[in-house]
Amino acid sequence: MTSVVSGNFTTGATFVDTFSYISEIHPQLSWFEKIWASYFAWFGDDIIATGVFIFVLHESMYFGRCIPWMIIDSMPFFSKWKIQEAKVISKKEQFACLKSVLLSHFLVEAIPIFGFYPICNYLGISLSVPFPSWITIVLQICVFFVGEDAWHYWLHRGLHQGVFYKYIHKQHHKYAAPFGLAAEYAHPVEVALLGVGTVGIPIFWVYITKNLHILTVSIWICLRLFQAVDAHSGYEFPWSLHHFLPIWAGAEHHDEHHHHFIGNYASSFRWWDFVLDTEAGPKAKEDRLRRQALKQKKNA
Ligand SMILES: [Zn+2]
Ligand SMILES: [Zn+2]
Repeated sequence: MTSVVSGNFTTGATFVDTFSYISEIHPQLSWFEKIWASYFAWFGDDIIATGVFIFVLHESMYFGRCIPWMIIDSMPFFSKWKIQEAKVISKKEQFACLKSVLLSHFLVEAIPIFGFYPICNYLGISLSVPFPSWITIVLQICVFFVGEDAWHYWLHRGLHQGVFYKYIHKQHHKYAAPFGLAAEYAHPVEVALLGVGTVGIPIFWVYITKNLHILTVSIWICLRLFQAVDAHSGYEFPWSLHHFLPIWAGAEHHDEHHHHFIGNYASSFRWWDFVLDTEAGPKAKEDRLRRQALKQKKNA
């Protein structure tokens, strides 16, 4: 039995029976809340149910988000928006990348995914229905985005130093012109370290506030995956998010990083690179030189 909703759940009942029973005793719940509660009640083991749910969610969202970019890559119509137009990835390279990413998902990411719920359960995360309000969900996800971006900036900048680059981060830089699938193409140590930003921050949050729902974490994981895949898409459209939200990093920001191997270390936002003067690309270099010349002139 599970604590997700109250009721006497019969072991061996089908999912449909569980759904009907929950609908009968909790008619006030929304359809999605009933589905959610039925899934956990029917599974009967919160640890396995959460692990399976997050793992399947991660796989479907990651590859689901990559598919449109693979289709766009195969259509010449879109090439005018490709950032590094001359560098189109071959099918063979995509397949090699896919194999490596899949291996990493099953061998490296599955363990923390299944370990996530027991830790969070101990710290007070919730699985139950009704869900928290949308305001709570949105605010917590904003905190996770800002926190992950800071973690990513400093860790990524560190990974570009000497031996860390040579033995760990170099793998991710195999593709100077990135593509969606390459978002999680990285050394297992890097996957684990960057993963701390995605799952460690919600863990820290629940430790401090005792106020977090697995649904919020699930939406956060989806958005973080979309951000990572899109940043590696290699396309800059007139409707790309950073044109409307200038602090958003997006593909243009991260593509410059892969192109020049230096600068633009943050994941979601542009503020760290801007404030700490680590922006990448020829325009950023030009601005930097101009600022330095102005400073020298002032000091002369
Ligand atoms: Zn890098
Ligand atoms: Zn990258």
